[in-house]
Amino acid sequence: MAERIGFIGLGIMGRGMAANLLRAGHDVVVWNRTATRMAPLVEVGATAAASPAEVARRCPIVLICVSDTPDVEDVVEGPDGILRGLSAGSLVVDHSTISPSATIRLAEAVGAKGASWIDAPVSGGSEGAERGTLSIMAGGSDDDLERARPYLEAFGSTITHVGGVGDGQRVKIVNQVLVVGTQLAVSEALLFADAAGLDLDQTLAAVTGGAAGSWMLANRGPQMAVRDWRPGFTIDLQQKDLRLALAAADEVGVPMPGTSLIYQLYRSLQAAGLGEEGNHALVKALERMAGHEMGHA
Ligand code: NAP
Repeated sequence: MAERIGFIGLGIMGRGMAANLLRAGHDVVVWNRTATRMAPLVEVGATAAASPAEVARRCPIVLICVSDTPDVEDVVEGPDGILRGLSAGSLVVDHSTISPSATIRLAEAVGAKGASWIDAPVSGGSEGAERGTLSIMAGGSDDDLERARPYLEAFGSTITHVGGVGDGQRVKIVNQVLVVGTQLAVSEALLFADAAGLDLDQTLAAVTGGAAGSWMLANRGPQMAVRDWRPGFTIDLQQKDLRLALAAADEVGVPMPGTSLIYQLYRSLQAAGLGEEGNHALVKALERMAGHEMGHA
């Protein structure tokens, strides 16, 4: 029998994911810190709760998608957090990208209430959340994932069980290292193309389908060509993910020189006040070095 689903965090990702749960016919209770963001979901059938604790009281399965480690800690352990409302047998699924070690600690806190935890960070951008085509990398027990799977299928087209609690976050770090390396390559390549006088649309058409093709090139390349910096994923969150990656790499003693460089480039964009632009605005850090602006608005 279908279980009622709670959804906490209706940002760029969460609102699309929650909308897809409703579209699939599920009974969904939502909570968002900024209450006005709940209205569009309520209009299409969700019930609004007054706090994360209320979501946990009303729903045996609670999904979370908020920004950073301290934010997940707030919604779980805060004064009105889900720990106040969880029952034995409840399941918490965290779709946020956060620290693997904090994840293990939070799973233990939830476990002390007789409830369980899956870390299930996502990839696929705002487009994937809206279309229901996210990739989900899940850490937790087989039984818990099988219980959650029918709901995750509402917004995820690839659900991979990668290991125990914390391993979902570790695989997401792998994903983010790949994403930013590609982003830097796309930025350098398109800036060169423009400075060399090539037509960006033709250049993208020539290389997107070949061996150099990537999600980043296909989705963000055309946006960069017209200087559209609206975020699918913000610079602030991208920089946060690289902080998590460098900390986790440090724990296992693996050097990440490329990722460290990109972390600093994103930091320079934050310092310039661009933290709310999309992560593809990475090219602006290179434009400053080159003294050349690419593309045309
Ligand atoms: P976003 O648009 O900035 O939304 C963040 C959400 O978290 C908002 O609902 C915000 O509430 C809530 N929040 C933040 N701090 C909170 C706190 N202390 N207490 C309660 N709620 C809090 O971010 P997003 O792009 O949806 O990303 C959400 C998560 O998914 C992040 O961990 C991100 O790294 C990950 N992710 C994002 C993408 C992407 O392409 N966007 C892709 C994969 C994974 P308010 O509305 O009140 O601000």
